[in-house]
Amino acid sequence: MFETIGSDEHEEILFGQDPVSGLRTIIAIHSTILGPALGGTRFYSYANEDDALVDAIRLSKGMTYKAAVAGLSLGGGKGVIIGDPSQIKSESLLRAYGRVIESLGGRYITAEDVGTTTDDMITIRRETRHVTGLPTSHGGSGDPSPATARGVLAAMRATAMEAWGTDDLAGKTVAVQGVGKVGGDVVRRLATAGSKTIVTDVNQKAIQAMVEDCGSTAVAPDEIYDLEADIFTPCAMGASLSETTIPRLRCELIVGSANNQLATSDDAQRLIDRNILYAPDFVVNAGGIINIAEETPGYSEDRAILAVERIYDTLTNVFATAKERNIGPSAAANALAEERLTTAKQQQSPIRHQEVRSA
Ligand code: NAD
Repeated sequence: MFETIGSDEHEEILFGQDPVSGLRTIIAIHSTILGPALGGTRFYSYANEDDALVDAIRLSKGMTYKAAVAGLSLGGGKGVIIGDPSQIKSESLLRAYGRVIESLGGRYITAEDVGTTTDDMITIRRETRHVTGLPTSHGGSGDPSPATARGVLAAMRATAMEAWGTDDLAGKTVAVQGVGKVGGDVVRRLATAGSKTIVTDVNQKAIQAMVEDCGSTAVAPDEIYDLEADIFTPCAMGASLSETTIPRLRCELIVGSANNQLATSDDAQRLIDRNILYAPDFVVNAGGIINIAEETPGYSEDRAILAVERIYDTLTNVFATAKERNIGPSAAANALAEERLTTAKQQQSPIRHQEVRSA
């Protein structure tokens, strides 16, 4: 078990269950060095418990890095609930889950993710205060997708500036893979910016909406890799950049919202070898969490928009660091996250001792 977790990695993994409602949950707290561990709750019918544990471990570490690079005072965590939400989700199960979160005393803060909704957050809120991403009607920041899409556009402009010396996206061709909540909004924003969009999705209705509303050109899911485009924008599932897809790409930049776009760490080098500038996914797609973090001081949309737009500067700094150190952008983003964590750890140690002594 500890080998799976990794000896120097996660602070804590909590297994919780409630036989009455059928809740089986794993909450992984990767790091609270920068603040409480924030990460959504994934409700999914995992094939087995090991898969659920591995997912919680992987996703919570990703949240630590995302928050660290974005400059947030938040750590990384993730909750998973095992089971098919359409079959077992109930008020009593969500409330039992809320009690598990409450038992962590604020070290983990949840939000929505695959299989959970903002309305589910209201139910969980009945048992614990440590919930974000509540609907705007409940004083929350609502659906994070528009903020994520805004961040993707900011990242696209920063990447364009790095590659082309201009951040004007007018006239550029952007191939968008997946036009759901984030990808669809990205396409709408690109249409406003004067870009041409080529879209694909496994959902025909989603494609049709883009063709009708934004004048996009539609292609079949597998064709998207072979298209000549200025920018490739993965907004569907993870691992779309791999040993088999990278040789097919005919774009100059990759900037998209999907989590874990690189199938393996070798794929970062494959993109460098092909002279394609890759904007690291966890820097690009931080808009949602930046927006949610604005709930802590009391949500203000104007302040949240300014905070999300700063992804432009964050990414510019990642590219500058990559150049200075002669490394790729992915390695630079990881290094910046790890350096911020190391500094915070060094600064916190004496304070923690002080607290112990005075207690
Ligand atoms: P979504 O489910 O609304 O949209 C995903 C879309 O991708 C759907 O329309 C789906 O039909 C399509 N799709 C699935 N498989 C596909 C394939 N093989 N080819 C083409 N299209 C395919 O999800 P979303 O909220 O828009 O998130 C998109 C991505 O961005 C995900 O990877 C998610 O983890 C990531 N992300 C989202 C947010 C957010 O705020 N929603 C924040 C950070 C990261």
